[in-house]
Amino acid sequence: MAMNNREGFIWFNGEMINWADATVHSLSHGLHYASSVFEGERSYNGTIFKSKQHTERLFQSAKTLDFTIPYSEAEIEDAKYAVMKANNLTDCYLRPFAFLGPDALGLQGTGVGVNTIIAAWEWGSYFGGDKMKGLNFTMADYKRPSPDTAPCHAKAAGLYMICTITKNKATAQGFDDALMLDYRGYIAEATAANIFFLMNDGKIHTPTPDCFLNGITRQTVIELAKTLGMEVVERHIKPEEMANAVECFVTGTAAEIMPVASIGQYTFTPGATCQKFISEYDTLVGKA
Ligand code: PMP
Repeated sequence: MAMNNREGFIWFNGEMINWADATVHSLSHGLHYASSVFEGERSYNGTIFKSKQHTERLFQSAKTLDFTIPYSEAEIEDAKYAVMKANNLTDCYLRPFAFLGPDALGLQGTGVGVNTIIAAWEWGSYFGGDKMKGLNFTMADYKRPSPDTAPCHAKAAGLYMICTITKNKATAQGFDDALMLDYRGYIAEATAANIFFLMNDGKIHTPTPDCFLNGITRQTVIELAKTLGMEVVERHIKPEEMANAVECFVTGTAAEIMPVASIGQYTFTPGATCQKFISEYDTLVGKA
């Protein structure tokens, strides 16, 4: 899907402009040094799920990268809905993002102007296909970096370099995605989604997000599990423990809740637990 010349409107530094005109200069700082942060959000029936949390995370990510978005969080909230209205969308994906522009191209970013942009479009299933068949993952070569190596809690473009390389390699080999370990060798997450296991103790286990994004969907699923009376164990999980997993699923705004059928040598059976979380999540977000 070519993203540059679609019909519609994009919120571009405070103005609603034609989709095709939402361009930036090739010497933008963000393009060269990844001084860029973004969000991925979904609206269901006209309401953006956890909208404020996403906006807060966008601002926090920018702060971590040492730049300030020149709007208030309330203005960004309004702008997201204005973009949906301008494009006549109620069920869509939203991509708010902010990055340093072309005012200077030294490494130093101080004083370089910030671009703030919001686009929205219809985007169906991230992985496609029959959900309950489950995804097939390989193991990633790259590891998630430690908190003293990269700002791992920001949703920042630079952190996705290893994710894109990993995703490319996985799909070239016929897999849907790959499981990334962290710098210590514990299970971390997929390239753009968090991971959960139903272990053979009947509990839901998920890695502690101490060096990767604590996804908003992940937090939602943990809350859902509690309301369903299921115990969630957040801990460091070794890859060989996947031998004890019965079901597995990944979570993310774009992916929503997707069952996983295999990761490398380990296989799982997408079943009642995956199904339960999918239907509870669909109800919570207000899916038609
Ligand atoms: N990890 C990574 C690397 C991601 O890109 C995403 C998607 N934003 C997630 C986890 C899930 O985050 P969320 O549930 O907030 O969309």
